[in-house]
Amino acid sequence: MTGNLYLCATPIGNLEDITLRVLRVLKEVDLIAAEDTRNSLRLLNHFGIKAPLTSYHEHNKMEKAYQLVEKLKQGQNIALISDAGTPGISDPGEELVRICLEEGVRVTSLPGPSACITALTMSGQKTRRFAFEAFLPSDKKERAKVLEEMERDTRTLVVYEAPHRLLKTLRELYAALGDRPLTICRELTKKYEENVQTTLSQAIGFYDNQEPRGEFVLVIAAKSREQIREEEKKSWENMTIEAHMAFYQSQGLDKKAAMKAVAKDRGVSKRDVYNSLLENTFS
Ligand code: SAM
Repeated sequence: MTGNLYLCATPIGNLEDITLRVLRVLKEVDLIAAEDTRNSLRLLNHFGIKAPLTSYHEHNKMEKAYQLVEKLKQGQNIALISDAGTPGISDPGEELVRICLEEGVRVTSLPGPSACITALTMSGQKTRRFAFEAFLPSDKKERAKVLEEMERDTRTLVVYEAPHRLLKTLRELYAALGDRPLTICRELTKKYEENVQTTLSQAIGFYDNQEPRGEFVLVIAAKSREQIREEEKKSWENMTIEAHMAFYQSQGLDKKAAMKAVAKDRGVSKRDVYNSLLENTFS
């Protein structure tokens, strides 16, 4: 019988935030794979858990994954924990899960804390649709591409950031997205937890004068559909009606359908579009 891989969410600051199921599984498994064994030992000691520990982190995530899969295939049950929160969420886990599934090993995720959901739910921003952007990519080109995509996104945006990079990231977000409402969630579940509703420009002003400390999640308001429509309308208005028609015809629309689309974009009737085209033809 193959063993099970259990993804166990651990507290993000408050030791009370651990589920009964996670505690039971951590006590029962044959092995606990931890991102930082010394760090996890403190947590495990606190709960009197004595299972053997092995390290599984960013720098051994591929070769170690295959070693763990071998053990799982031999029937061992293994729990994966990260330094804090849910494994696989901006933490090692993704590759191990993929390899386990490829190798026919069962994977179970035991739900619990994650800074993303904790921040989003208390942010006061819209929660129905959101995009978890994690840490923005460090590669310059990739980062610029992601920022560009974020600008057009109509979902609430959730970003993780380390304190020493916070100000730079806030400035880049401001440059890419404009001034947006933002909730800064700091030190979640800890003694000095903060939930500050502000804007990107105000946050930059604040952290220009105060060194950021602690752990941060940024929850940024989405661009509204009305804003997008307004921007599109402005860009159409800067275009001649002929160019606007040509745009839709180049997309494969026939003349009638193109006139309908142009009229809708400009907030006018089809007859107005028709008359303008006619006027321009004979003027
Ligand atoms: N796996 C974790 C999770 O499920 O949220 C995320 C780990 S990631 C390496 C660490 C980042 O998560 C931090 O830089 C911060 O952005 C965010 N984070 C983790 N704990 C936090 C807390 N207590 N308060 C605010 N942000 C936190």
